[in-house]
Amino acid sequence: MTDTTTIINPATEAVLAEVPICGTEETDAAVARAKAVLPVWQAMAPADRARLLRRFAAQVEDHLEELAQLETANVGKPISESRDEVGMVAEVLYFYAGAVDKHRGATVPVAGGVDMTFHEPLGVVGAIVPWNFPIAIASWKVGPALATGNAIVIKPAEITPLTALRLAQLGLDAGLPDGVLQVVTGKGSVVGTRLVEHPDVAKVAFTGSTEVGREVMARASGTIKRVTLELGGKSASVVFDDSDVAAAAAAAPGGVFANAGQDCCARSRVLVQRSVLEEFLEHLDDAVAAWTVGDPTDPAIKMGPLVTAAHRSVVTGFLAEGMGPEAGPVPVRTTGVVPAGPGFWFAPTVVAPADPAWRMAREEIFGPVMAVIPFDDEAEAVRLANDTPYGLSGSIWTRDSARSLRMARAVQAGNLSVNSNSSVRVQTSFGGMKQSGFGRELGLEALASYSDVKNVFISTLG
Ligand code: NAD
Repeated sequence: MTDTTTIINPATEAVLAEVPICGTEETDAAVARAKAVLPVWQAMAPADRARLLRRFAAQVEDHLEELAQLETANVGKPISESRDEVGMVAEVLYFYAGAVDKHRGATVPVAGGVDMTFHEPLGVVGAIVPWNFPIAIASWKVGPALATGNAIVIKPAEITPLTALRLAQLGLDAGLPDGVLQVVTGKGSVVGTRLVEHPDVAKVAFTGSTEVGREVMARASGTIKRVTLELGGKSASVVFDDSDVAAAAAAAPGGVFANAGQDCCARSRVLVQRSVLEEFLEHLDDAVAAWTVGDPTDPAIKMGPLVTAAHRSVVTGFLAEGMGPEAGPVPVRTTGVVPAGPGFWFAPTVVAPADPAWRMAREEIFGPVMAVIPFDDEAEAVRLANDTPYGLSGSIWTRDSARSLRMARAVQAGNLSVNSNSSVRVQTSFGGMKQSGFGRELGLEALASYSDVKNVFISTLG
């Protein structure tokens, strides 16, 4: 009998399901099935492949509420967020369905003949995804991989596999050939490692921690496997004194506490110009008070629990450790209210003023903890924003358009927003700089990560 993992609802601690812990054998079988279906999938007329992806998108739309409820039960995220994320999955599939027959090669002016390029599929893609946005991040890999003629094997996070499993079933129901989209549940160290090392897997699309990403990259070198890495972050939101300070403060909780802070794009460092620090904090107190925590199935709730008890201990550790062993606890300015009883609750917490040297201001906490750090001028803001090995996202709050452009060019991060905390759109590329990873997901840019350019020269010299 196969061993199973017990899947828990983090808001109630109730058991949701038992899911198989697959091993190397099951992973190899999935890769073999994926490899076997490639000739059929790649021979399909582009318009037919696009039609299948549209049908798949429609299946997701038809099951939006079911998938959203499943995601909320498994991850503990508010149902309003789950509905948006599942809606995005359908949008991703429609977007890449539209790209199937528009991903064109080029003809290149050369001497002595005709030169042309083709975008060739890579083959079997392994997708390794984290637990914080399980179905959304899986779809960011499924859409471009299938559109460019690959087959894909998804390894979901151990604790949140339910929506990926359902997604694969919906793909089959939509008519995708068997083997084109599969899910193998199990441990990262077993199934994940096997996908990374398997000689018949051409590419690994990994989203997760920088630590595991480093290992994936090293192991992938054995087969010169293509890798894209979407890793951690410690992003900054920079609030200047010429901004709409009230608007920046009102938006700040959404930039850090959304998904209970379990977001690679969380603006967990909020840099505020000293001249408006007090004004900002007063508005922020009101915004945090309105950030309701509770039953994630309630559409009015803004934040659910953390994903596991173990993760809650990690988050708590950042605050408990405080300013360091000698210096005492960090100055907690505001903290919210959480439900009593079962569930892995953690109140939204604002630490102000925070010192950029503290561990909680340097490392990815992945929980609802905001460090408010004062700065004096633009040069200091740039220095602080870039004083991190990460480079994923960030925000700039100012009414000065020249400053917004100077800052947008100076901050080393892959996704920046001005007067907004929005990082992710289906149509625009998403990915990191520095140790937040490389490669781009979403937008038309993602197609390049799932295909190789083949150059063909035809002599016309007779
Ligand atoms: P994680 O790195 O622990 O796990 C991610 C996935 O990798 C899981 O499926 C896991 O089973 C698998 N894995 C673990 N060890 C492996 C190994 N040795 N070989 C292959 N696969 C292995 O990350 P997590 O805790 O699931 O997710 C949180 C992290 O993900 C955070 O650091 C967060 O910033 C990051 N993240 C990044 C993005 C982005 O787009 N940049 C998006 C979401 C999350």
